[in-house]
Amino acid sequence: MFDINKVRKDFPILHQTLYKRPVVYFDNAATTQKPQVVIDTMVEFLTKHNSNIHRGVHYLSEKMTEAYESARNTVKQFINAKHAYEIIFTSGTTDSINLLAFSFGEAFVSEGDEIVVSYMEHHSNIVPWQMLCERKNARLKVLPITYTGELDLSAINYVVTERTKLIAITHVSNSMGTINPIKEIIRYAHNRNIPVMIDGAQGIQHQHVDVQELDCDFYVFSGHKIYGPTGIGVLYGKEEWLEKIPPYKGGGDMIKTVTFEKTTYNNLPFKFEAGTTNFIGAIGLAAALKYLCGLGKDNILHYEHYLYNYALKKIQSVEGIRIIGTSDNKTSIISFLLDKIHPFDTGMMLDKMDIAVRTGNHCTQPLMKYFGIDGTVRASLTFYNTEEEVDYFVESLIKVKELFS
Ligand code: PMP
Repeated sequence: MFDINKVRKDFPILHQTLYKRPVVYFDNAATTQKPQVVIDTMVEFLTKHNSNIHRGVHYLSEKMTEAYESARNTVKQFINAKHAYEIIFTSGTTDSINLLAFSFGEAFVSEGDEIVVSYMEHHSNIVPWQMLCERKNARLKVLPITYTGELDLSAINYVVTERTKLIAITHVSNSMGTINPIKEIIRYAHNRNIPVMIDGAQGIQHQHVDVQELDCDFYVFSGHKIYGPTGIGVLYGKEEWLEKIPPYKGGGDMIKTVTFEKTTYNNLPFKFEAGTTNFIGAIGLAAALKYLCGLGKDNILHYEHYLYNYALKKIQSVEGIRIIGTSDNKTSIISFLLDKIHPFDTGMMLDKMDIAVRTGNHCTQPLMKYFGIDGTVRASLTFYNTEEEVDYFVESLIKVKELFS
């Protein structure tokens, strides 16, 4: 079902020797590698079809517009949105959340209102809401977590109140890999007429996402974390919400008519896509999504689950390992501390052994504070990683430990 050797051949970077051997790339939560088909598709469009979209009557412009809108349709199908115009191309998750914090905030948040996030959010899903709260004199409320790194839903009745205007929560924690019960939270919120935004930056590539089934009001993600290019991302929003909130940026393409007295805005999705968008990026993202569909999302998730369990068992067996985030319901992210060695030192030593991991606070400073630590070493695995890489990783961890003792 899943031929790992064949799959690895699709990713040229994995075969490149760094210091002494090909990279063991365990930094997939930061960004993923690109299959050849994504690279080829982008090169082909830059080489043969490049032209600005929506603006020309000429052949190249029409071709590029067609490809861009077809990319939108591919995203729509991938997350099972009801309409293609509910897919807004942005530059990434951060951009999508900033868009929403501004536009939703302008329309629906006033003094004394509340926005709810959780303790495990990435800074991207904290700071834009904090900025909104400062602008509007509103309050940011925080759903606590437990020591295993799961949301503490027993506190939700205290955190969510009649002043709550929106709940913005991550699908999967980027620091720990915890998969949050977003469906339950969405149901809870909708019973109180509160919309929910899901930060899918770490969810979309490791979970099945069907936005209609989830019934989320907004779902955001980045192209570069799902094997697509950087500089492209998605804001999915239900039509009724996107119609109700004002645009975030003004400029070309987002307008119907402009006079010095008054401008009228374009229809969805263009109302939110001012200026020249990253159309080559959108086409690259669509190529990545099609590639994943070709491998089969079920096959991918099954393999990742298997590899994660294999890695967890092996890593846990190293003496002196402390794992941060011990939920039973996780994607393939393992965050840990090794003895008293600073995560940065562990990361540096692993780098010299051709292993790429992330070290630090992973843009989740409040979460690190909760655990009373500065940061962790984060190994984030995906479907092109192998058991052999995990074995080498664990051997290398033991070497690092020996060197520091
Ligand atoms: N949210 C989460 C959960 C993330 O992991 C990240 C990226 N680390 C972001 C938001 C921000 O994504 P980007 O930098 O692609 O905008």
